[in-house]
Amino acid sequence: MKSSEIRQNFLEFFESHGHTIVASSPLVPGNDPTLLFTNAGMVQFKDVFLGLDKRPYMRAASSQRCVRAGGKHNDLENVGYTARHHTFFEMLGNFSFGDYFKRNAIQYAWEFLTKILSIPREKLWVTVYAEDDEAADIWLNEIGIDPARFVRIATMDNFWQMGDTGPCGPCSEIFYDHGPEVAGGPPGSVDADGDRYIEIWNLVFMQYNRDTSGTLHPLPKPSVDTGMGLERISAVMQGVHSNYEIDLFQDLIKAAARETQTHDLSNNSLKVIADHIRACAFLITDGVIPGNEGRGYVLRRIIRRAIRHGYRLEQKTPFFHRLVDDLAKVMGQAYPELVAAKNRVASVLKQEEERFAETLENGMQVLEAALREQSGTLAGETVFRLYDTFGFPVDLTADIARERGINIDLAGFEKAMTDQRERARAAGKFTMQGGIEYHGIPTEFYGYDSLQQEGSILAIYKQG
Ligand code: ATP
Ligand code: MG
Ligand code: MG
Ligand code: MG
Repeated sequence: MKSSEIRQNFLEFFESHGHTIVASSPLVPGNDPTLLFTNAGMVQFKDVFLGLDKRPYMRAASSQRCVRAGGKHNDLENVGYTARHHTFFEMLGNFSFGDYFKRNAIQYAWEFLTKILSIPREKLWVTVYAEDDEAADIWLNEIGIDPARFVRIATMDNFWQMGDTGPCGPCSEIFYDHGPEVAGGPPGSVDADGDRYIEIWNLVFMQYNRDTSGTLHPLPKPSVDTGMGLERISAVMQGVHSNYEIDLFQDLIKAAARETQTHDLSNNSLKVIADHIRACAFLITDGVIPGNEGRGYVLRRIIRRAIRHGYRLEQKTPFFHRLVDDLAKVMGQAYPELVAAKNRVASVLKQEEERFAETLENGMQVLEAALREQSGTLAGETVFRLYDTFGFPVDLTADIARERGINIDLAGFEKAMTDQRERARAAGKFTMQGGIEYHGIPTEFYGYDSLQQEGSILAIYKQG
């Protein structure tokens, strides 16, 4: 079953159960300036759950595009290392706004997985929050799940909250067992972090309101919020153990191989590039522009990581932007906004590629030399120099070092950064917070001009 068919089946199933199908909202949340990116299906319904917004429906279902990079949920560091995490993914979700609660939510999920998708029940594991006897009873006595594949979890992994206060409640998660050929232990075990037992669906039961003193008050109308990763359920349905082996990723990996002249399709860098083109293209589609702060800097960091993986495959000229067309072929039907924006997306990426190409090679030489000399930890000074002079975001340097089993001295980096700010201040110059603008080929930091316009800072560099 293709990913697109699973998406379709999901929405149709919930529509047949009285849910209104709601389109994915953009990756930049319209209703929450504190949230970096839309990272779950519930984001666009946040105010509905809080009772601040009313909709003409009490049940909804969606396929929501999500990004988990930067911010509270950050899976960037997992990409290239697990079979199941992406920076960009699609979350299938069904929602009840004070309508049905645990019983229906569990029944729907079980019916969809075991009847519509025909997944053998022996392959599924279920967790509930340790104290949630109500959910446990439904699973064990109504659904009849085998207690051998049922786990009560006492950690916050199975208790969801929107923030320190506000709606919260227990979760019940459904896992798929990919079999003994994959490493990892069952949910709740010490080695649960492997790729054998993969969490596919999270059912959140919003049941309480937490007040400022931490006390939980029952909500008059409990609600349901669920999320299932489309790529993970696609891997299950396509009989593969890694998300990167599903249909839509295979097309992107082949495209990345073509653009980098790579013959070995199992090369890890191709997976990272395939992941990153999705995140970058959709972020730009949704209005994010590479920059030095906030969302723009997260985007820039992802783009630079992708370019560096190209470099790792000996692809030294711009290639990344050429994948936008391939992505539009794979995902354009579900996301027409991507097709509409694709020329703009490609040109933004190309510009960013050309820009980083000017410093990447020299930066890599500096870094390679430092990594050869150092074992264990990379000096903060080097990390800072790469950041400041060559435009290497800290996480990029850390990722390259991690490939050699080397850590970076983050405290040392921060000190070098503070020292420089102080030098700039002492010299009577203004300095900016956060990322530092750089302009091309090896430059030596010279200080910032005081000319600071609305939202833009003119950085002055002495050419090296
Ligand atoms: P995990 O424990 O595997 O990191 P999670 O508990 O953080 O997942 P949830 O916040 O419960 O994930 O999100 C709901 C569903 O979205 C998950 O059950 C999973 O199927 C999917 N999902 C979460 N994060 C990712 C990701 N980075 N890439 C792909 N799918 C994801
Ligand atoms: Mg997670
Ligand atoms: Mg989890
Ligand atoms: Mg979860």
